[in-house]
Amino acid sequence: MNIDLTNCDREPIHIPGKIQSHGFLIVINQDDIIVYHSDNIADFIPDITPNLLGKHINTIEPIIGKNEPPNFIHQLTIFGKTNGFDQTNPFNTDIRGKAFHLIISATADFFLLEFEPAYSDSTTDVQKIIGRSISEMLADKNLQNLLNNSAKLVKNVIGYDRVMIYRFAEDGHGEVIAEAKNADLPSWLGLHYPASDIPKQARELYKVNLTRLIANVHTTPAAILTVADNEVPLDMTNSHLRAVSPIHIQYLKNMGVESSFSISLIYKGELWGLIACHNYSPRFIDYRSRESAKLIGQILSSALEFRQDEENQLTQELFKSAVDQLSRLMLKDNSIDDALTAHSVNLLNAVDATGAVLIFDNNVTKLGVTPNDQQITSLVAWIKRNVTDNFYYTNQLPLEYPEAALYRNVASGVMVTTLSREMGEYVIWFKPEQLETITWAGNPEKPVEINTEGASHISPRHSFEAWSQTVSGISKKWTNEEIKSVVRLRSEITYAINQKAGAIRLLNEKLKQAYEELDTFSFTISHDLKNPISTIKSFSQILLRDKDMKPQSIKIIERINKGADKMNNMINEVLDYSRIGRSELVLTAIDPAPMIHDIVRDLLLIYNIDESCITIGPTPKIQGDAVMLSQVFSNIISNAVKYSMMADRQNISITGTEGDSEVIYTITDNGLGIDIKQLPRIFELFHRTDNVGDIEGSGVGLAIVKRIVEKHRGKIWVDSEPGKGSTFYIAFNK
Ligand code: ADP
Repeated sequence: MNIDLTNCDREPIHIPGKIQSHGFLIVINQDDIIVYHSDNIADFIPDITPNLLGKHINTIEPIIGKNEPPNFIHQLTIFGKTNGFDQTNPFNTDIRGKAFHLIISATADFFLLEFEPAYSDSTTDVQKIIGRSISEMLADKNLQNLLNNSAKLVKNVIGYDRVMIYRFAEDGHGEVIAEAKNADLPSWLGLHYPASDIPKQARELYKVNLTRLIANVHTTPAAILTVADNEVPLDMTNSHLRAVSPIHIQYLKNMGVESSFSISLIYKGELWGLIACHNYSPRFIDYRSRESAKLIGQILSSALEFRQDEENQLTQELFKSAVDQLSRLMLKDNSIDDALTAHSVNLLNAVDATGAVLIFDNNVTKLGVTPNDQQITSLVAWIKRNVTDNFYYTNQLPLEYPEAALYRNVASGVMVTTLSREMGEYVIWFKPEQLETITWAGNPEKPVEINTEGASHISPRHSFEAWSQTVSGISKKWTNEEIKSVVRLRSEITYAINQKAGAIRLLNEKLKQAYEELDTFSFTISHDLKNPISTIKSFSQILLRDKDMKPQSIKIIERINKGADKMNNMINEVLDYSRIGRSELVLTAIDPAPMIHDIVRDLLLIYNIDESCITIGPTPKIQGDAVMLSQVFSNIISNAVKYSMMADRQNISITGTEGDSEVIYTITDNGLGIDIKQLPRIFELFHRTDNVGDIEGSGVGLAIVKRIVEKHRGKIWVDSEPGKGSTFYIAFNK
């Protein structure tokens, strides 16, 4: 069986074919011929011709307007059509000695002539009250007072037992937000009504026809008659007498209400709420009183609009000035991170949030109250998977992402803007849970009733007993002003990032240029120095051949000679260093064993040490440039030997190990060691540690090694303890 809870939304209500029986209806076409009329005319005019359909309106004009000139209906419709029927409504007429209001409205093809008694159950002088009270009503700046005053004023004008101002939430349910009632009635203030209490098509109608009166729920509506072959249903959108749905009548009866009147409150073209009036006995109010009540509704609507606009404007200005300040800071500060989080105005001021996180440039900066680090990490992972747009917001995060239920007190609402999805960079704002207790007037789950034929249909609630429900995991909504502010902020951040990226690219270019210049410079200088040095060297050697030279002079010339050697060495190394920068890297699979053995053999000779001092372990293959790799091993192994000469028994080992993705060579000695403070600097050009004493060296070797290793996209690092020795690790990619 298919139970359809939307039945109520489907029931057509502007073409019910019935009117309430406190008045009667005649419908004429453009030629003033009667095409419809209600079947209750005889209740008001007992001697009327029984069949009016197809007759010209002229035929009954003397009855429906005793003192009016002939053709007066035609005159009224012509006038109303050009000037609006507000100008003619209500038209006072005399029918059989009784005063009636004739209210005319137009449909696409017809004119509806509705006749209502011109008396009211209300005795107050409406016009007088209105003028005085509206200024009072508007005097108060406070929105709640404005609503309370309006409810009071409407109650004065129409004299109903209870007048409520009822506001619709986004999901369509309504809440009583102001009330004026007889002292003996219980208050309904704060009660919520399910959305289904006022069906969707009724709401549409309420936007067009701003007031509705149900004078007596106990009367039987009068049918509308038309000729047998007329299949066009009558459009009753603008009708005042329109009978309402029997479901609604039952609903009112279940509440004990016998008469009801409501006025629409419209905000920016949408139904914002209703002024709903209930009377516990039948009550008819005439057209003029209804129009006065409508006027109050319209004034309240525009006051609401004005107040709301004023409020929106204020918050928008606050957000705007925060975003302005942030964008200024971003362009001024070196770090975007700092600009957005480190000042008194920060990300939190761009919206109305209690917490925010900036995930940018490998940093997570938290502001205000936020979930913890681990929760943020998982949330960001979820966002990365699920948020593809630049903006995402919800005021019910736990519903979308159940894990958030654990910290709903901090973040039931989130607003996310993506700075870079690839890099996982986001700004996230949080709103806390707003525990809301909704007291329903009756259970919002509408009961479904099954009729005797077994079909299901909706029946209105019988019980209006209040029923509380606590809503959790929901925060305050993100407003349009907040969304606009985030959109603006995002574009400011992106602009600043681009500016900075531009600046960094420029710096990078300059740096590259400087490097190239430096390389060329050192290359040329070293090259140009080589000639004068070899001149010094050759001439000093010629001088040394002079047998008559005094021993003192020989010593001096030998020092010149040695100095020239040292300088030559250094120049060679600097040349090597600058060459690495320029040379192209050609990778081949190299077996380092022969080069390591050669290097060790030479070193044993030069330093005159025993073979057993150096052990060579496994030497796995490396992807690299043969010449450069030989420079690397030569430098590191000779350092190991050179800086461990003073050890009682030198112990140097060289081994390679092969991992999954890299080959690591380890060169260990038991020499001088390096102080931890100096460790980071030993790879700098010309840097030598304080403990080297007169051990010879230039401080260039390790700089060359590092440059080569990096050119191979490898890594080099060192472990060392002063007095115990050092271990150099070199990792090459496989
Ligand atoms: P140098 O020509 O001085 O050896 P390097 O660039 O090869 O230049 O080394 C830089 C500095 O690092 C050395 O001067 C020394 O202070 C330190 N160093 C390098 N290797 C070792 C080592 N195996 N033991 C101790 N100190 C070392």
